[in-house]
Amino acid sequence: MQTSDYQRLDRAHHLHPFTDFKALGEEGSRIIERGEGVYIIDSEGNRILDGMAGLWCVNLGYGREELVEAATAQMRQLPYYNNFFKTTHPPAVKLAETLCRLAPPHINRVFFTGSGSEANDTVLRMVRRYWALKGQPEKQWVIGRENAYHGSTVAGLSLGGMAPMHEQGGPLVPKIAHVRQPWWFGEGRFGEGRSEGQDPETFGRECAAALEAKILELGEENVAAFIAEPVQGAGGAIIPPASYWPAVKAVLAKYDILLVADEVICGFGRLGEWFGSVHYGLEPDLMPIAKGLSSGYLPIGGVLVGDRVADTLIEEGGEFFHGFTYSGHPTCAAVAQRNLELMEAEGVVERVRDDLGPYLAQRWQALAKHPLVGEARSLGLIGALELIDPATGERFDKALAVGNLCRDLCFASGLVMRSVGDTMIISPPLVISHAEIDELVDKARAALDATLARLADTTTDQQEETSA
Ligand SMILES: *Cc1c(COP(=O)(O)O)cnc(C)c1O
Repeated sequence: MQTSDYQRLDRAHHLHPFTDFKALGEEGSRIIERGEGVYIIDSEGNRILDGMAGLWCVNLGYGREELVEAATAQMRQLPYYNNFFKTTHPPAVKLAETLCRLAPPHINRVFFTGSGSEANDTVLRMVRRYWALKGQPEKQWVIGRENAYHGSTVAGLSLGGMAPMHEQGGPLVPKIAHVRQPWWFGEGRFGEGRSEGQDPETFGRECAAALEAKILELGEENVAAFIAEPVQGAGGAIIPPASYWPAVKAVLAKYDILLVADEVICGFGRLGEWFGSVHYGLEPDLMPIAKGLSSGYLPIGGVLVGDRVADTLIEEGGEFFHGFTYSGHPTCAAVAQRNLELMEAEGVVERVRDDLGPYLAQRWQALAKHPLVGEARSLGLIGALELIDPATGERFDKALAVGNLCRDLCFASGLVMRSVGDTMIISPPLVISHAEIDELVDKARAALDATLARLADTTTDQQEETSA
């Protein structure tokens, strides 16, 4: 089969996730055939540096034989069995133990799911169930954040705060509210009258104050939990100002509201700690996980449940009517276990914290001098560039879709860098080398140059049209 054969069949039969089906059909998909280390190789033989680790998940990179072997061995032994009805199997038990050893000390239980979305569905049921058992059944509201991503099931998208998602296929799950996100560049520095001229730290405290105002508006006796990612990933690699998390923690403690830290992206080394919550000292009650748990080699997720909630569910809950056919799937669990063992043996997390994170930060900051870039930020191995119009120093008109242009030019130059509006984001595999970081930054710069050139062409064309 040739590229064009795959594209024809893809167009005929395949509805892609988060895709304008018709537009993609006209354009044709890029066919990815192989992966090696931090590179993917397409059906035309192009070797592309995967600056997104697939979808924030291929943390150990492509082609790890150890993970292939772990899957093969487990499939021979017991490809599938469930964890319902008083049964389990060695891979699920071992993985549960490993996860709870790596998690903060107050977290000693895990509930397995097949994905991050299912993990957040589980979270919603658990927090409401917890308060019902505590004799406060009216504590049902969950507060999330605008522009947050918590998955694509109905509960996931309701907890998330992405307006375009909310507009499709509603109504959403009731009793979920959203407060502003701590995105200083977009809503502080360039906010619509929100916090103009403020410094990031004041802005961070203001976001925490917005959470408190929402709690008071709903009634503290009605609010079950607050859900947020330590660093917002899909929303645009939003690293909150230093003032944000301590202020949020204080608000939640004041009103006795559970904290859910969505670790689906930040977990497993992305921020240079095993969990993003550890980096920020969050001590959350629940931590949904997925993605990097298996380095994306097989689908698996879960919820790490802190003692406060777990003890109540165990001691007072009776049967919890919840679970998935693939909760703790043995082959997926065996691969996740091997993935975590390799990460420990190779010191991957420490390397991100002490070496790769600081190295990326230094190289990435150099891009802040590019005329198209208004801000360059990174933490561990997650980073973002905020694009601005060099002519005005303001943000571009959204309709120009400059971010998408830059992303397409990036792909053409051999780098996957994603765009969220006019925010360019990266989240490379955690095994990337210094030389590969250099290549990533050089290719990102080349794509920025190409974007600038393309914009200049368009402006010249427009001027010529006007004068003609
Ligand atoms: C990807 C993601 C999810 C959803 O995970 P799926 O495995 O795609 O269902 C949830 N939360 C966050 C923060 C994510 O990035």
